[in-house]
Amino acid sequence: MVRSGIGYDIHRLVEGRKLVLGGVAIPHPRGLDGHSDADVLTHAIADALLGAAGDRDIGHHFPNSDESIKGIDSQEILRRVQAILTGKSFAIVNIDSSLIAEEPKIGPHISAMRERLSQTLNIPPDRIGIKATTNEGLGFIGRGEGIAAMAIATVEKLEPRFPADAPRIA
Ligand code: MG
Repeated sequence: MVRSGIGYDIHRLVEGRKLVLGGVAIPHPRGLDGHSDADVLTHAIADALLGAAGDRDIGHHFPNSDESIKGIDSQEILRRVQAILTGKSFAIVNIDSSLIAEEPKIGPHISAMRERLSQTLNIPPDRIGIKATTNEGLGFIGRGEGIAAMAIATVEKLEPRFPADAPRIA
């Protein structure tokens, strides 16, 4: 069985925060605000994976009221999401995503982000798509007030080769 899920996230750009996208720290005068490291791309991917597995969303699994995860590295969130999927016998087929940001320029960082996400998820980088676009100066993203991300994930349910209730031949 093959299933897909979508994810979307947006965070506000503020002074005094590090900018982390796809697990990569990107030099920029402002960073994304949030309870975790506010890695908007990784959050959209995590939500797409949870959606594909039919398991709520990251707000449910990692509520911003949980002080134990304040400032958490979103790669750790992604690792925990993958563990939820593995527990349900879902394996990742591929992920595709888009970042929507007026600045900074995302292109020079895409291969580092793919590499980092592929290490976190232990899948080849060519199974992870990351694209970037501006909002053509329109609206709040166009004014540089925040960065948004969209993602789609496809997963495959691994059927057990030897179901627990199948008769075994000694
Ligand atoms: Mg988020």
